[in-house]
Amino acid sequence: MQLSKKRIQWLGYWQHLSFSKIWNLIQLYLSFQVSRLLQRPIMWGRPATLSIEPTTSCNLRCPECPSGLRSFTRPTGMIAIGLFEKIIQENHQHLHYLHLYFQGEPFLHPHFTKLIEIAHTYGVYTATSTNAHYLTQANVAKTLQSGLRQLIVSVDGITQEIYENYRVGGKLAKVEEGIRRLIQTRNERNLRYPYVILQFLVTGVNEHQIPALQEWCENLEVDELQLKSTQIYNYEDGSPLIPTNLEYSRYIPDGKGKWKLKKQPENKCWRMWQGSVITWDGRVVPCCFDKDASHVFGSVKENSLASIWRNAPYQAFRGQLLADRTQIEICSNCTE
Ligand code: SF4
Repeated sequence: MQLSKKRIQWLGYWQHLSFSKIWNLIQLYLSFQVSRLLQRPIMWGRPATLSIEPTTSCNLRCPECPSGLRSFTRPTGMIAIGLFEKIIQENHQHLHYLHLYFQGEPFLHPHFTKLIEIAHTYGVYTATSTNAHYLTQANVAKTLQSGLRQLIVSVDGITQEIYENYRVGGKLAKVEEGIRRLIQTRNERNLRYPYVILQFLVTGVNEHQIPALQEWCENLEVDELQLKSTQIYNYEDGSPLIPTNLEYSRYIPDGKGKWKLKKQPENKCWRMWQGSVITWDGRVVPCCFDKDASHVFGSVKENSLASIWRNAPYQAFRGQLLADRTQIEICSNCTE
C-alpha cells in the first residue's frame, strides 16, 4: 500500500511509542497544567524528549551561531560513545523523541551514525539536523542503515549568493548533491526513512526566493518543506534580517519607531516540562536557546538525568518561568 509522505512520518513516530511513554507524557502534561494552576513547579514524569549534542565542531561560519563564530565560553568537543549509551540506557523507556543535535554539525562526529544505531536499538525515535555538506556515498549508506527516522536539512537560500550570505563558507551545490544522493538511494532501496525535511529560515535577505523554493524542493524530492521565522538577538531597532512579509516574522513595529515581539511571552513554557538538552560533555541545560550553557542543572556524568530533572536548580528555573520569565535572559526573546 502506498502511504502519503505525512503518514510515513507519523507511522515512524507511532512505531516507537509504548504504553510507558504515553503514560509518561500524560504525567508531564498534567504536571505542567497543575504547576500553572498552583503557580509553583510540580513534576511527575521524566523527560520525554532529549536533544543530545554530538559535537560543537562545525565546518561553516554562520554569523549568529557560537559554533560558527568559535565563540563558546564552555568547553568544546565530541560526545563519548560510552556517555551517550549511558544516557540512552537510563532514559529510553520514557523517551519518545531524540534529536541528535544541539550546536555544531553532527556528521563531523566520527561515529555519528553509530550513535543513531545505539538509540535505534533501544527503540527510540531519532532525528537530526544537518547542513548537508557531509552526505557522501559512505555517509548516506551508513545513515540509511542506522535507523534514523527524520533528517532536517537547513537551507536558507537557493542560489549560492543568498545561501552563503548566512551560511558563510557553505557550498549550495554540495548541499543539493548530498540531499539528492540520500533521497535517491533511499528510494532505490525502497526504504521509508529518514523522512527528509528542508527547513528554510525566512529573513529579509531570502524571502523573495520563497515562490521558487517549492519547485526547488520538488526537484530534489524532499518530503516536506518548513518555512520558519528567525530569532534575531537585537531586534528593537529593526534588522535587515526581519522579513518585509510579517507573516514570517517574530517581530512587528511597535508604532513608536521600534520593534517588539509579535506575540508577547506568557509566564509558561511547555518545553521545560517536556524535555532537556544535553551538551557533548554531559551538562544538562534547559533548552536549545541556552547555546553557551549558562544554566547548567547538573551533569549526567555524575548523576542520573532522572535525579537532575527534579533537582532544586531545575525546579527553581521552572518556578522563575512561572513567576516572571522576563527575568531569565534567554526566555525574554523566545516565542515558545
Ligand atoms: S528560552 Fe525559556 S521560554 Fe524559551 S524554550 Fe527555553 S526555557 Fe522555554
